[in-house]
Amino acid sequence: MKYLIIKKIDEEVKRLILDDDVTKKTGIYPYILTRKEKYLSIRAFTDAQKLATYERQGGICADCGQHFELSQMEADHITPWHDGGRTITDNCQMLCRECNRRKSGK
Ligand SMILES: [Zn+2]
Repeated sequence: MKYLIIKKIDEEVKRLILDDDVTKKTGIYPYILTRKEKYLSIRAFTDAQKLATYERQGGICADCGQHFELSQMEADHITPWHDGGRTITDNCQMLCRECNRRKSGK
């Protein structure tokens, strides 16, 4: 039984090491112990990805439907990283600060 748990952790460590969106590999063990994604520093969207998404949405917040300037908006993963969502333009949506804060529960 203990062996199986160790094997499972081992597999997860390998998977996280190979995950390009995990930018802080030293955070893998703290993450496994706590399940707090902040330890992994999941890759953020680049300015180019943000701009492309902003233009695709026509400056409209994906949640409240109001128009904002790019500087007033933040990028959000449509499918969260822990559900398999990647940090790619197809998985990016721009939200106004208020909606993003509400969504992330900060
Ligand atoms: Zn909004």
